[in-house]
Amino acid sequence: MHCKDLGMPVWVAWLALGLAVLGAPARAADYAGPLFDAHLHYNEEAWNGRTGPHPLADVLGRMQRSGVQAIVANSRPNDGTQALAAARNETRRAGVAVVPFVRLYRNRADYDNWFRDESIYEMVQAELARGTPAGPYRGLGEFHLYDSQNANGPVAKKLMALAEEKQLAVLAHVDDAAIDLLMAATPSRGQKLRLIWAHTGIGGAPVARVDALLAKYPGLMGELSYRPGLTCKDDHGPGRLCPEWRALLLKYPGRFLIGSDTWVNQRWLYYEDLMKDYRGWLGDLPPAVARQIAWDNGATLFGLK
Ligand SMILES: [Zn+2]
Repeated sequence: MHCKDLGMPVWVAWLALGLAVLGAPARAADYAGPLFDAHLHYNEEAWNGRTGPHPLADVLGRMQRSGVQAIVANSRPNDGTQALAAARNETRRAGVAVVPFVRLYRNRADYDNWFRDESIYEMVQAELARGTPAGPYRGLGEFHLYDSQNANGPVAKKLMALAEEKQLAVLAHVDDAAIDLLMAATPSRGQKLRLIWAHTGIGGAPVARVDALLAKYPGLMGELSYRPGLTCKDDHGPGRLCPEWRALLLKYPGRFLIGSDTWVNQRWLYYEDLMKDYRGWLGDLPPAVARQIAWDNGATLFGLK
């Protein structure tokens, strides 16, 4: 349709268009660079003896289509991670680097007992000695502490000391009180341990408390899946960063990571949507900061390019 058809001079049309552009909400472009998925599980029920519902080709396809170029792989049992690590040709073709972690769980019963179960410590030692086809294990976890006091369990304390000594990162789904206890169990009292805090406090530790912990422990990193209060809905589409979280990410741009947390198969179904959501709120940040959180921080932590 031409402007003449509306009976208005061309300059009026241009003025109206200009005002419309100025008045439109400023929606930054989505982040378009590489992603480092710092919290990924390839659990038994996803592959079921390799037949599915999510065999290797399926999960690698989801990563590739999402622009995920590296993953922290940790799986119950560790066979899932070993399978990802062994698929050298397939992962290379998909452009995905595998960073293997030793999961502390052989089965669901281990969730509630690992921190005092000596056989878990032995299993970790055996896995570390065995390594993976993608190279040595780079970390321990994910593990959970539903009661933070269990961070004082004998096996939990031994594993934290071991992680610091062997320069293994730790992926911990715990509350803020447990962060202090786990850090206290290391020889450096938390000054050297690299601890990825799964969800950065899934119970919603206040931003000021997260800030204080980041200041206290130089190796503490926050992984942002499921973090309550991170994004706020607005009228213009999907979630955008809430102001106090945006400020925290800008204060510590080198300390945050994103992750899928594919803890149940449903998370695999929505993997691509999840990564698209991350790209949306990452676009609310200055491009250099978005890239740090999306990729650089994980790549630096594990020496990838
Ligand atoms: Zn998880």
